[in-house]
Amino acid sequence: MATQQPMQCPLVINGREMEATGGRRFSRENPANVNQVVTEAAEATAEDMRNAIHASRRAFDTNTESWVTNYKLRERVLFKAGELIRQNAERLADVVRLEVGMPARQAAVHVSAAADVFEFYAGFASKMYGETMFLPTGSQVNLVKEPIGVVGLITPWNFPLTQTARKVAPALAAGCTVVLKPASYTPMAGYELVRILHEAGVPKGVINFISGPGSTVGDELVRSSSVDKISFTGETGTGKSIAAQAANEIKRVSLELGGKAPYVVFEDADFEGASRAAIFGMFRNAGQACGATTRLLIQESIHDAFLEHVVRLGRTLQVGDPADQATDMGPMISRNQERTVMDYIKFGQDAGFDLVLGGNKLQGGDFDNGYFVEPTIFANVDNSSKLGQEEIFGPVIAVMSFKDEEEAIHLSNDVPFGLVAGVWSGDHARTLRVARQIKAGTVWIRDNYQQPAEGIWGGFKESGMGRELGPYGMDDFMEVKQIFTDGTGLAMKPAYRQVIKE
Ligand code: NAD
Repeated sequence: MATQQPMQCPLVINGREMEATGGRRFSRENPANVNQVVTEAAEATAEDMRNAIHASRRAFDTNTESWVTNYKLRERVLFKAGELIRQNAERLADVVRLEVGMPARQAAVHVSAAADVFEFYAGFASKMYGETMFLPTGSQVNLVKEPIGVVGLITPWNFPLTQTARKVAPALAAGCTVVLKPASYTPMAGYELVRILHEAGVPKGVINFISGPGSTVGDELVRSSSVDKISFTGETGTGKSIAAQAANEIKRVSLELGGKAPYVVFEDADFEGASRAAIFGMFRNAGQACGATTRLLIQESIHDAFLEHVVRLGRTLQVGDPADQATDMGPMISRNQERTVMDYIKFGQDAGFDLVLGGNKLQGGDFDNGYFVEPTIFANVDNSSKLGQEEIFGPVIAVMSFKDEEEAIHLSNDVPFGLVAGVWSGDHARTLRVARQIKAGTVWIRDNYQQPAEGIWGGFKESGMGRELGPYGMDDFMEVKQIFTDGTGLAMKPAYRQVIKE
């Protein structure tokens, strides 16, 4: 990317780009090269957030340019946005690479997945059919879907385009108006989507963009009585406090939170396929992924042989400059995250688990300018330990063995999370049995980390509530209303006799 100058990320309120009131800005450095500031962003105040909410509220309440009622307009805008994302794919991939440190090959797929989501929901905007039924009395029940209203979308940093697309696209398809609050590590990716949506023809005020600290502007969004729903993706702890706050007003909330996913490999698994799937799910985006399959459960009889296979493959991963097409794994998002990951590695070593791959911070040369950690695998991990139970959000994998199906299911479910899981066996009936008993929002059979726009994404247990993607992702932004119409024409209806005698 021909940018040595930092990218500039303004606020967007009522269709206008602006600086924060008070003029404060914050900067984001490249996690692969901390000497390079990649983004300078406006640091919004609570007042900016209130202005954005107000613009969003007004756009919804006045049905600006028929946004709320004209699904054809929404369909056109979303299709166009998908097209513009594809046209700007290279630039968007650069933004993600620079802010997240995501390797170029992964960033490219990430961009096209975001376009898929816009295209999928564009088609949905014109298909919000309700249901109708005639009752035995001749009266009619119409069940119609309506947009929830003003929605506050709060996003994390790890997959900044797709996480944002999964919220923004269905919210807009449903006819909602939006205030988007991105994570502070990745403001530019969110801003780029908002800019594209305006270019695609979204009316002023329909989507507003506010970058700034979660504890101030995020909190203002969650507390506002002018906001009808919050859709949040981030840490389980933050999600809990947002849900508690929203409960005061019965504000609608959906939460996409943490994970500690199992990847279960049975003795009849095809080693070539299962080991590649495992590595892909463990180390994509350097393990900074809510759906990373960070607990590798291997059946006892093949434990050593399969683990050796996985470790051999893990050794081939090239860690380094995300701009290099040959790079498989980039840096951690921040110094804090690097420290957290190294603390977990130290814990694993102190606990006496078998370190079979990696375990070090990478040092020397360009590594010294970034937050690089080796792909790391611990074997013989106790599932009840921190390594088995806590989301690390880095390239640190816990391997365990199991005797039989029953133990595999028990271990899989023995964590507070339930976002995703993988199962690899050649026995079709077994994979189905196990998939049915794992408590997770998604179970991949003979594959890993697939998230088509047509499917769903969302968790059981502490991994969240609500579902993103697919038709269910639309439901999260709509209310269902019953319109009951009398079809009897009677002045005195049988039901009234409960209260009126004649
Ligand atoms: P985070 O909870 O620190 O921040 C997420 C967002 O919430 C950011 O925009 C942040 O500014 C904002 N925020 C923080 N405090 C807030 C508050 N009090 N009120 C309102 N907003 C607030 O999470 P993160 O570090 O950005 O993301 C990593 C986490 O996200 C991991 O736990 C990961 O598992 C989770 N995640 C989940 C999914 C999923 O789909 N389930 C997807 C991606 C990431």
